[in-house]
Amino acid sequence: MSEITAPVDVTPVNRYPTAPAWQAVDDYFAKALVEEDMALVAARESGQETTMPNAEVAPNQGAFLAMLVQLCGAKRVLEFGTLAGYSTIWFARSVGANGRVVTLELEPQNVAVARANIARAGVADRVRIMEGPAAESARELINEDTEPFDLIFIDADKPSNPTYLEAALQLTGPGALIVIDNVVRNGGVADDASQDGSVRGVRAVVDAIAANPDLTATVLQTVGVKGWDGFILVRRC
Ligand code: SAM
Repeated sequence: MSEITAPVDVTPVNRYPTAPAWQAVDDYFAKALVEEDMALVAARESGQETTMPNAEVAPNQGAFLAMLVQLCGAKRVLEFGTLAGYSTIWFARSVGANGRVVTLELEPQNVAVARANIARAGVADRVRIMEGPAAESARELINEDTEPFDLIFIDADKPSNPTYLEAALQLTGPGALIVIDNVVRNGGVADDASQDGSVRGVRAVVDAIAANPDLTATVLQTVGVKGWDGFILVRRC
């Protein structure tokens, strides 16, 4: 019990303030239930070579996203924010050989790391990486009149969340699922006076979802190796 009530480490050097018990529970479940092969492990570890180390989803979260794809029967997935391609690989494997994943990434350095990881995982044939600002790449997809996506994962720069939701609504049809990551921000999201651009981006996208009668949504708070955070799940009616 003492572990569970242990104080959360909030030292500024810790990108994801976390408690030992949260990590122990994540480790326990991940070891017991989440199968990561060498390609996924290599992709996760190569996050260190990107511009944003440790920012990929946790293994249990990758498996959760893959399960969402399978539950929805999604064949086409769009991802905002590739990093090293860790979540991309989970998506690419879960859509199957005839599926398609398009992933949008700003940083050329991350694109190079992701490309190598995606090739190593054997899914390069079903993944398109678009390099550049995600809003521009999404616009390109809209202009291409691309086939609608079944599931969209929004996990890039958080201040742009409202822009990405708007694009997602142009790139999906009824029944699509939109998942938005990192929406709790160590509790910062509850502060309506926050000047933090990421908190404001999350709150603005929440307002946009709430104001749209075609959307139903819920939120899952999470704790674990990624600290205290969460996902918004949005379904288009
Ligand atoms: N989805 C990845 C995973 O779980 O493995 C993690 C993505 S990481 C949280 C966010 C990524 O978004 C970073 O690679 C960052 O370079 C990228 N990014 C930031 N701003 C962006 C922008 N304006 N357009 C496209 N990508 C952006």
